[in-house]
Amino acid sequence: MSFSLAIVGRPNVGKSTLFNRLVGKRLALVDDQPGVTRDLREGEARLADLRFTVIDTAGLEEVTDDSLQGRMRRLTERAVDMADICLFMIDARVGVTQTDEMFADILRKRAKHVILGANKGEGSAADAGVLEAWALGLGEPLRLSAEHGEGMTDLLRCLMPLADDFKERAQNEAAETDIDIEESDAEDAYRPHSEQAVASGGCRASKCWKIHPH
Ligand code: GDP
Ligand code: MG
Repeated sequence: MSFSLAIVGRPNVGKSTLFNRLVGKRLALVDDQPGVTRDLREGEARLADLRFTVIDTAGLEEVTDDSLQGRMRRLTERAVDMADICLFMIDARVGVTQTDEMFADILRKRAKHVILGANKGEGSAADAGVLEAWALGLGEPLRLSAEHGEGMTDLLRCLMPLADDFKERAQNEAAETDIDIEESDAEDAYRPHSEQAVASGGCRASKCWKIHPH
């Protein structure tokens, strides 16, 4: 799996609808225990050729008392810390609310990469909300319709360069590990025991071997 994407935002903006669209039936975790609300739902997403882990911040919908703000904040912070990229969704038909601003604040401070999605974007009723979303200071809003599958190509276009970055980073990390292992193996094979003892006392053994080959 190349990277993880957390879908965050207040209840009812369409997070789970998008999650279900991206995941289809490929749910990584299924909790069929009655009465259990899973706060973070994880699935294997597919968008064209791209494969990634998607995290839905569920479990807030049933909260109706004053604890909602605090729980939203904690859950979002958890999701942000877990994920490589956050997709922050607002409801473009409603426009930007105070709660959306609270989310934007967390994301600006905490998230590594944020994509702003103005959902329910089908039809002209969403025009004003999409424009308002610019004011959140998170870059250009992506006009999406999770329910109708609109804006998925734009979402893909946003994710592609990030996906490439993560892939490259993973390859570099793997390459570095390979070099270290090969060099130390080569060294052990060629160096007499007495020199091994000297090399272990400070300078990196692999460099010593390269500078003073026998
Ligand atoms: P969540 O609470 O953020 O997970 O939101 P849900 O995915 O449960 O969606 C809340 C409601 O919005 C549901 O009735 C969905 O059918 C509806 N919804 C989701 N996406 C869209 C959309 O793109 N357009 C419209 N018009 N409704 C949507
Ligand atoms: Mg939901």
